[in-house]
Amino acid sequence: MHELSITQEILEIVTKAVPAGQLGLVREIRLKIGEEGHLLPESLLFCFEALKADFGMPESKMELIRVPVTAECKSCGAVSPIVNQIYQCVSCKGTSLKVLTGNELQVTEILLED
Ligand SMILES: [Zn+2]
Repeated sequence: MHELSITQEILEIVTKAVPAGQLGLVREIRLKIGEEGHLLPESLLFCFEALKADFGMPESKMELIRVPVTAECKSCGAVSPIVNQIYQCVSCKGTSLKVLTGNELQVTEILLED
């Protein structure tokens, strides 16, 4: 299960970012997740709930910030929203596109109890 190893990586990032003595104070982890990543948000949250105590953060929750996929046309430069993985320029109908957003997988914020 891909989501399991991703979730482990996320939790490892958090354990490196937060001093060990304060891990129990982590309340929320905000994760930017691109919609092109083919990760199931429900599975990520499920894995997170299953693993968080093992990483010393039993009181934490994960907040997912979804980033839609957009791509720039290599022919005309127009930026198109990508829906259902159809990579076609909205302007010239070209199909040679460079992905701008949607590949994100990044911990953006870690909130601790005061
Ligand atoms: Zn175009």
